[in-house]
Amino acid sequence: MKKHKELVSFLKSKGLRMTPSKEKLVQFFLYNQARHIPIKEIQDQLISTLPDVDRTTIYRNIEKFISLGLIQELDLPKKGKVYQFVFDKKVQHYYICKSCGKMNKGNEDLFKKIEKALKDIHDFSKANLSVLFYGFCSKCENTFENEANL
Ligand SMILES: [Zn+2]
Repeated sequence: MKKHKELVSFLKSKGLRMTPSKEKLVQFFLYNQARHIPIKEIQDQLISTLPDVDRTTIYRNIEKFISLGLIQELDLPKKGKVYQFVFDKKVQHYYICKSCGKMNKGNEDLFKKIEKALKDIHDFSKANLSVLFYGFCSKCENTFENEANL
């Protein structure tokens, strides 16, 4: 797989020493690009193909991948921490309802406005946005307000 090679050479260029477990982890995220994957599934999957690898090593590799922008961590209500492949992907922000757990991807317009605000307010540019907004969707907000008024 071409992409796999590219990613491995990218990681090497960042000074990462490639090991079989890191190779497998890269491959796993590539195959599951569209998904939000819980840590347990990642660990189970890796351990099933590499019985010698331990959970701590996997977790440490995940942390490294996050710091290099390969994957991102999302903390989802009711689901807990999940991981998603984000390398090469432009828009990486979500808004998540704390009540019903509904998650939506922010669109390009929002991305542009945030970028502009970052530049205007903080004189900061070319941010690789990876942002999560936690709040309430319109449906849950109404329920919440009605309950508060009782
Ligand atoms: Zn909601």
